[in-house]
Amino acid sequence: TAMFAPERPNSRGFDLAHAPTLAVIEAARAPFRDHRWQAAPLLARKATPAPEETVANPANAADSPGAVAPTSATDIETALAAARPWGDSAADRGAALNRAADLYEDSFGEIFALLAREAGKSLPDAVAELREAVDFLRYYAARIPDADPAGLFTCISPWNFPLAIFTGQIAAALATGNAVLAKPAEQTPLIASLAVSLLHRAGVPRTALQLLPGGGVVGAALTSDYRVGGVAFTGSTETALKIRAAMAEHLAPGAPLVAETGGLNAMIVDSTALPEQAVQSIVESAFQSAGQRCSALRCLYVQEDIADDLLAMLGGAMDALHMGDPWDLATDCGPVIDDDARAGIAAHVDAARAENRVLKELRAPASGTFIAPTLIELPGIAALEREIFGPVLHVVRFGSADLDRVIDDINATGYGLTFGLHTRIDDRVQHVTDRVHAGNLYVNRNQIGAIVGSQPFGGEGLSGTGPKAGGPHYMARFCAPDRQAAVD
Ligand code: GLU
Repeated sequence: TAMFAPERPNSRGFDLAHAPTLAVIEAARAPFRDHRWQAAPLLARKATPAPEETVANPANAADSPGAVAPTSATDIETALAAARPWGDSAADRGAALNRAADLYEDSFGEIFALLAREAGKSLPDAVAELREAVDFLRYYAARIPDADPAGLFTCISPWNFPLAIFTGQIAAALATGNAVLAKPAEQTPLIASLAVSLLHRAGVPRTALQLLPGGGVVGAALTSDYRVGGVAFTGSTETALKIRAAMAEHLAPGAPLVAETGGLNAMIVDSTALPEQAVQSIVESAFQSAGQRCSALRCLYVQEDIADDLLAMLGGAMDALHMGDPWDLATDCGPVIDDDARAGIAAHVDAARAENRVLKELRAPASGTFIAPTLIELPGIAALEREIFGPVLHVVRFGSADLDRVIDDINATGYGLTFGLHTRIDDRVQHVTDRVHAGNLYVNRNQIGAIVGSQPFGGEGLSGTGPKAGGPHYMARFCAPDRQAAVD
C-alpha cells in the first residue's frame, strides 16, 4: 500500500542466473579468496592496537579470514568520552548515508568474499544481504524525522546478518543524529569493520560512529553506562532481558530499547495447499541460510490427510540440497556459525534420535561446523523447549477439526515473529491470520527474506519490542523520548 511504498526503488542486487553478471562477481571476489582482513576498535581518538585474535571460517578450519583486536575497558571509556551526536543537518546526514550505500554497492566483491569466509553465507544469501544493507541506508536516509536524537546509541548486532542488521541499526541511529557505539557479534568483526570504514569514508564523523568489537563483556559495559541514551539490539530473548535489566539499573528511565529477538516460528499447511508450492516454501524457510534466521520456520503443522505425501515430497526436495563451502556456487546450505552452535544443535538432534523422532537426516560434510538438514517429528510446538537456530525442522500432524487448537498452541509459546500459512480457502486465510500472534505473516509463500520498505520486519511478545525494522515507525524510537509523540 502507499504507506509502505518506498520513495525510491530498492537496490536491484545481482541476477545470479545471468552468466555475464556472475562472471563479474567471480572476478570481483577472486582477489579476496585468500585475503586476511584485520579489525580493531575504530575509535574517535587513539592508535589502534594490533589484531591478535584469529577470526574463524565456519566452513573450513584451515582457513582464517583475518584477526581482530578486541575492545579493552580503556577503549570503552575512550569511546564514551569521545562520542558526539552527529550535528550536521538532516539533509547532510542523509546525503552521507546515501554515499555510504553507493560505496557498499561498489565494494560487492570484497563484501561477498567476507560474507562467505567470515559468516558462512552462500552467494545468493550474500547478494540478498548486501541489498538489504543498502536498502536500510537509503530507506532511513529518505525518512529522517524532524526530532532531536536520543544522544548516544549502543547498537549490538548478530552474526547471522553481520552486514544488513549491523548497518540497519546504525543507519537508523545515525540518520536521526545520534552518536553510535557499534558492537558487532564476536564472530563477525571483520565485515563490521569494513562497513564502518565505508561509512567513515562516506562522511560520517568518527566521533559519531565508533566500532567496539568484542563479546558479552563489551556489550554489558555499553548498556550499563549512564551516558548511553538508548540501545538497539538484535539477538536472543535471554540477552534482551539482561540488557533491559542493565538499562533499568544504569540508564535514564526513558532510554529506549529497540530489540528484535528470537522466535518459534510455525507454518500451517492444510490439505487444500498446493504441495509443490508448500514444499518449496518449507525448504527455503527452514534450510536457507542453514536455518540461521530469526524468521526461519521451526515447526511445520501439516494436516494429517496429506502429511505422508507432503513429507515424502519434502524428503525428496531435501535430498537435492547441496551442503558445502559457501564460496562454491553449488552450495545451498552452508555451515552453522561455530562449534558451540553446532554442538548445541547436534545435542538436540541426538535427543530426538534417541526417542526415534528423527524422520529424515542428510549427511553433513566431515570438516567445518556443519549441521545436516534434519526433520524431527513432534507431538506439538509445546514440546520445543527452545529456539533451535539451525537447519532443523520440526513437524507436527494435525486433524481437520484441530485448527483452532493449533493456533492456540502456537500463540501459547509467547513468541510472535513470523508465521506461514498454505491454504487455498480464502476464509481460512482471514480466520487464521486474524488469530495468530506474529509480526510478519506470509500466505502461500516462504516466510523469510522481508524486504525493506515493503515488508517491515519485527515481532511481538517474546520476539521483540517493535517498531519494525525497515518500516515507517522505526526511526521514531531513536529520537529523544519527549519528542517521540511528535513523530509517531
Ligand atoms: N529479516 C530477516 C528475514 O526476513 C530475518 C532477520 C533475522 O534473522 O534477524 O529473513
